[in-house]
Amino acid sequence: MSLTSINAAVQLVEKAMSALNGIRERSRSSQDTELNAHISTLYDELLALKEAVIRLTEENEELRRELRRTADEKHKPELKRVGSANFYFDGDKGPCCQPCYEANGILTVLTEQEEWNGGIRRQCLHCKEYFYEKPKNRPNPSGGGPGGPNRWMG
Ligand SMILES: [Zn+2]
Repeated sequence: MSLTSINAAVQLVEKAMSALNGIRERSRSSQDTELNAHISTLYDELLALKEAVIRLTEENEELRRELRRTADEKHKPELKRVGSANFYFDGDKGPCCQPCYEANGILTVLTEQEEWNGGIRRQCLHCKEYFYEKPKNRPNPSGGGPGGPNRWMG
């Protein structure tokens, strides 16, 4: 329901109320008890209708607030794990730098994947940080105990 249609409904009820008030004033001098009873019933029902319209108005406002909240939440970028890194994605935009978004609320799209030292990395051109989707090789190839990446060499 739009705000205009709610306003129209409220105004219609108010008009009907004031018209009925006029009739009720007139009927006070009337001896027709049956007519007076009908008018009284009509008045009660119109009051109930007015309350219903007010309830609908409140419900409508609450729904609008909820819609706005949902829209706000929907717009937040999503943190997703890519390989061994975490990137933010906002719809089609991404991957974006996690630290830049969390510290400053800035969504910076990272560079294309780049092979580097056996790993795959991307760079944030804003904070100049590198992020490894696939970790690069250990800096000391001859080291590496059991279970290290260079086990096959020994
Ligand atoms: Zn950054």
